[in-house]
Amino acid sequence: MLYRTDYHIHTTFSDGKAEPRDYILPALKAGLSEIGFSEHIALFAENTSWCMDPGNTGNYIRYLDNLRKERSDIIIRTGLEVDYYPGKEKVTGDYLDKFDLDYRIGSVHYLGDMSVDNGPEYYEGRNIDILFENYFNMVIDAVSSGLFDIIAHCDLIRIFGFKPAQSPEYLYRKLARRMKEAGVAFEVNTNGRNRPIADFYPDRRFLSIFFEEGVPICVNSDAHMPERVGQYFDEAYELVKNAGYTEMAVFEKRVRKMKKIT
Ligand SMILES: [Zn+2]
Ligand SMILES: [Zn+2]
Repeated sequence: MLYRTDYHIHTTFSDGKAEPRDYILPALKAGLSEIGFSEHIALFAENTSWCMDPGNTGNYIRYLDNLRKERSDIIIRTGLEVDYYPGKEKVTGDYLDKFDLDYRIGSVHYLGDMSVDNGPEYYEGRNIDILFENYFNMVIDAVSSGLFDIIAHCDLIRIFGFKPAQSPEYLYRKLARRMKEAGVAFEVNTNGRNRPIADFYPDRRFLSIFFEEGVPICVNSDAHMPERVGQYFDEAYELVKNAGYTEMAVFEKRVRKMKKIT
């Protein structure tokens, strides 16, 4: 039997369109063995309309605890997608340590004050090579922080299709090596297909680098609505297998285990 998980899902607790319970049937239909929720937490963002109120995390965890009691047909995991802010590791860690989570997904959405996924204007007139380098370095710092178990959309900087002049392969290699050393997993994020880049994160040309370096992998939808749970997973798993992977990372109480992809 196929063992599939989807650990990156947003609901009305942050910027998703439906409650967690509304995602269960679609997850079963998609053949998932585990579903995990990961509401946005951005402790230092100025505009927080897309985030869960950090004071509401206890309610979110209780909601999922109750839902877990109702369902014996699927494993429900509790996670968060947390923005990484350089220099704020201690405050972020102290906040996260208060909660009993199955995993923490670390994200870089902001470079400085600007979110890299808001619009293409951000990229116009900028040196794309430098932007890529800055973005990857920030992700590497997030990996090194020790705060996270999984890194989300590790090359979100591709979102609007702006390409560096130089091949970014060395950035993927550097990131993958750091992830392996730090024991942090990455995700194939299928939601990139629904965004302007119209393809998964990370860049499929470099997926085998993560395998060569021994980085654990997850496949996630980053769904913000129930019909996108497990979206494009058949294609994503083909890619993952073609890159050499035979097992996936699963998480419970922040302990990682590997499951065979069959
Ligand atoms: Zn994200
Ligand atoms: Zn997300």
